[in-house]
Amino acid sequence: MTGLVTIVGLGPGEPRYLTPAASEALASATDLVGYGPYVDRVPERPGQHRHASDNRVELDRARFALDLAMNGAHVAVVSGGDPGVFAMAAAVFEAVENGDPAWRSLDIHVEPGITAMLAAAARVGAPLGGDFCAMSLSDNLKPWEVVEARLRAALAADFVVALYNPISSARPWQLGAAFKIVAETRGPDTPIILARAVMRPDERIGILPLSQVEAAMADMSTMVIIGASTTKLIERPDGKAPYVYTPRFYGVRP
Ligand code: SAH
Repeated sequence: MTGLVTIVGLGPGEPRYLTPAASEALASATDLVGYGPYVDRVPERPGQHRHASDNRVELDRARFALDLAMNGAHVAVVSGGDPGVFAMAAAVFEAVENGDPAWRSLDIHVEPGITAMLAAAARVGAPLGGDFCAMSLSDNLKPWEVVEARLRAALAADFVVALYNPISSARPWQLGAAFKIVAETRGPDTPIILARAVMRPDERIGILPLSQVEAAMADMSTMVIIGASTTKLIERPDGKAPYVYTPRFYGVRP
């Protein structure tokens, strides 16, 4: 009897933002595999085995899930946000590509989730209304030179840029370096969105001009969105936070 592997996106936080399809995949799994805090977000079910692990062992976790499935388990591998965005789905396919050829006969499904970038954007308006790109600022799995070259290229093309993994205790200087690079090409009033723990109880959203932003305002639960030259603020009365949006047209509305 062969099992199957479903890589499930849990969304940004609140269970309301988990898709019904993801919920079904979690309910029908015999085994849950994932980073501890994500496994903790899934309600316990009698008879379902929970395998929580450390965050730094993605490939081992993927191999473990594939082995369980080879033995007949219906495994749900859980990830925050969307599992295909800087997360477990790529690790599972990497394990399949380089691992036991028998793993290729397994059925592997990906259940999408709302990724942090979209959750953050929705909180402030429509900053991703024009062309945008997303990148991970982490240089754990790629050299900093590549991160920097991609950031410069995205800025040169005037994309809105969404930065995942902006900072951590092991990567303390990279976000500051990135803001310096941004300041070389974008004006001091460019809106920067710092969206922390979106759709979780400790959510905090800041909208600041580039000239006032500091790397220390972000942490590893923060999504950073850098406005393009066309990204605008709509100020509102009575101390309400402005709306941020990027028009779909560029230059003059056709
Ligand atoms: N697969 C995840 C991203 C994993 S990378 C997704 O699709 O959302 C981890 C990074 O995602 C964090 O460093 C942070 O930048 C961002 N992130 C994840 N959840 C978040 C949330 N609820 N609020 C803000 N940023 C979040």
